[in-house]
Amino acid sequence: MGSINDISVASLRGTGNWSNNLFDMLKSMGYEYADKQTISFNESYPEIINGAICRSCSYSEIGEPEIEYFLSKAFLPIFIKSILPSENYLSLLDIKQLSQATQVTELRSRILTSIHNNGIVFKPEIELFQKGCPKCLRSDVSAYRWIVVFKDSIIQLEKESR
Ligand SMILES: [Zn+2]
Repeated sequence: MGSINDISVASLRGTGNWSNNLFDMLKSMGYEYADKQTISFNESYPEIINGAICRSCSYSEIGEPEIEYFLSKAFLPIFIKSILPSENYLSLLDIKQLSQATQVTELRSRILTSIHNNGIVFKPEIELFQKGCPKCLRSDVSAYRWIVVFKDSIIQLEKESR
């Protein structure tokens, strides 16, 4: 039997990660209320963007769903904190509008620029490296995480040291 933690409300395409993360965050608030009779707002900010890398030649891909995952993790806590206690709380349901807010669009564009500047290939797909590495044709591919570092007004993607 599944638990409420296994429920997702949308696919990973388009704004799906926004819907799923909104559900997760409201779920956590609901659980905290049930458990401790308090309501607190999530203040955390994501630091990682996931993608995939070829271990042979370092060719790398990041998919659009991972960028939307990062953006929704970054902005939903801010939106929830400002909108939920207001008379406009129903505007939280307009996921499309939230995901296109000016500050979101601006950060999305900076992230895409950074991905490009790092020589990483942006893919709209969910599944990366569907046919092995397109550059060296090997299939030594693994999941990879980039640390998102904000320096002045520039975003840097740093390879996670292992
Ligand atoms: Zn390769």
